[in-house]
Amino acid sequence: MKQSHDLPRVSVGSLGGTVSMQEVAAGHGVTPTLDADTLLALVPPLRSIARISTANLCLQPSASLAFQTLLEVLAWARDEVARGAQAVVLTQGTDTLEETAWFLDLLWPFAVPLVLTGAMRAANQPGADGPANLLAAVQVALDESSRGRGALVVINDQIHAAAQVRKTASLAMAAFESPGGWPVGAVVEGAARYRHQPLPRKVLPLPIQTGHRVALLEACLDADNALLTALPELGYEGLVVAGFGAGHVSVTWAETMGTVARHMPVVVATRTGSGPTARATYGFVGGEIDLQARGMRMAGGLCPRKCRILLWLLIGADVVEQLEDWLSA
Ligand code: ASP
Repeated sequence: MKQSHDLPRVSVGSLGGTVSMQEVAAGHGVTPTLDADTLLALVPPLRSIARISTANLCLQPSASLAFQTLLEVLAWARDEVARGAQAVVLTQGTDTLEETAWFLDLLWPFAVPLVLTGAMRAANQPGADGPANLLAAVQVALDESSRGRGALVVINDQIHAAAQVRKTASLAMAAFESPGGWPVGAVVEGAARYRHQPLPRKVLPLPIQTGHRVALLEACLDADNALLTALPELGYEGLVVAGFGAGHVSVTWAETMGTVARHMPVVVATRTGSGPTARATYGFVGGEIDLQARGMRMAGGLCPRKCRILLWLLIGADVVEQLEDWLSA
């Protein structure tokens, strides 16, 4: 049996979410209350596989996490690595896990694994999945084969890449998928099993400004263009449109978006939830060929929400000219 000082060092940061929720007053619903040490105490085997230090980074439903909070979380995680952590694990709400994982992945400069997890059932519910997910997250984070893969989401014994992962069910236990492909790996008997070797990764510089705003609007049938038209004067600096099908919009939207694109970068993604946008297939007004001719970029396989985060970080780091490279990667 290993002495505790021989065990690898893992830092666990807790941000809130269902994994840390319980019902405090009967009939009032669950709210985030459990701190990181309490979460750890629910998983006794953790203490025999790692020396764990904890931090309570915030205690929020994940819908209320802000980019600024994530930058603070990132600074904490970077410090932990500088102090010798061999892996960093974050627990948070599942509602925005796909966005936070991608945000952190784009800025994570280390080979050291950064693993995010959460839970679909609150800590006081029978069959709560938080403890199992936390154990799996630490096991994956400690696995040598997890190095060099950026930020990973470990949930329901699956390992998802930050660029692909998506919450596709509101309340089901199997709520996460990597649409259009497979999760990058699975947790099998406490070890990470990956489908392929780590792919080369690119990392963005830290933002030098954070006050800018990037809008995300979804195309829908017979939508008016009032909000689109107002974007420049409202001070937005970027726009992502979740377009129909392979990245299409109505004639009205195409014309207005063309005007908006003279003021800010505009990216068109697909609202379908799976598959890439087209580049050279459809020739109608509002199709991808027309939209590109009006100065817009097609998102490729990146979903609209992840496009918004990418664009926000590119503008923040003053490297928006790299947009095309990132979208075609
Ligand atoms: N339902 C959410 C969760 O799974 C709540 C949140 O995202 O904070 O954690």
